[in-house]
Amino acid sequence: MSSYREIAELIVKEKACVALTGAGISAESGIATFRDKGGLWEKYDPVRYASIDAFRTDPSKYWLIRGEFIRNYDRYQPNSAHLALTKLEDLGLLNHVITQNIDGLHRKAGSRKVIELHGSLREINCLGCHRTYLAPKVPDGTPPHCECGAILKPNTVLFGEQLPPVALENAYREASRCRVMLLIGTSAVVQPAASLPHVARQNGAVVAEVNPEKAFPDADFFFAAKAATALPEIVAQVEQLM
Ligand code: NAD
Ligand code: ZN
Repeated sequence: MSSYREIAELIVKEKACVALTGAGISAESGIATFRDKGGLWEKYDPVRYASIDAFRTDPSKYWLIRGEFIRNYDRYQPNSAHLALTKLEDLGLLNHVITQNIDGLHRKAGSRKVIELHGSLREINCLGCHRTYLAPKVPDGTPPHCECGAILKPNTVLFGEQLPPVALENAYREASRCRVMLLIGTSAVVQPAASLPHVARQNGAVVAEVNPEKAFPDADFFFAAKAATALPEIVAQVEQLM
């Protein structure tokens, strides 16, 4: 395993770090990852429940799998890994968090520069009048309807939908500009996020992966640990160096 001290020294020296996070960073907040046993997609076929075609045909299916999270939105809290990234941003050493997560936990943790590649369950948009509701406040019903009568859709990217172009452009820009990329809790197979660590390395950055199981073979540093263990360690070392 790589040394926390060494990556901390690089973060302090380069002052140009970016984090790319996936479902694993939220595992210890009690949210199952994509591929975990008992995870959502073991029970529900994503094409039938979470694709844009399925939503158009029968929005109640998507609300069936996401409604509970949205209505319990306040119960999910950031863990020490999200908070460590916020601290790194406060220290002026982290330029951006790029996340594939839709749980809103980076913002809840206080991170300000967050690129949500797949949108967020926090915002729920009316497909009729374009009014936005904020989780956990959402009208009753599966699917819930806006006061105007139209269907509501969480502001997340469904299978078959394009990623928000501005978020994607910002993510590529940040990946190519950074000197250190922290790759945290992602299986690094879902495109286009999976290409971002390659973009970082091609532009001369060092990639440091935090994951109990290695997912990115080209990583320059690898920490076989849970995010909530490794990130506070790294940031504690950073603080000693400042
Ligand atoms: P993934 O489920 O494919 O991979 C999760 C990765 O996290 C795995 O490599 C696993 O080894 C690792 N991991 C598990 N526990 C960990 C821990 N405690 N600390 C660090 N790493 C840990 O997730 P992905 O790569 O993010 O891609 C899945 C897709 O599913 C994304 O598009 C995402 O939008 C969506 N998703 C989001 C959430 C969420 O918002 N929290 C949850 C599940 C899935
Ligand atoms: Zn409306």
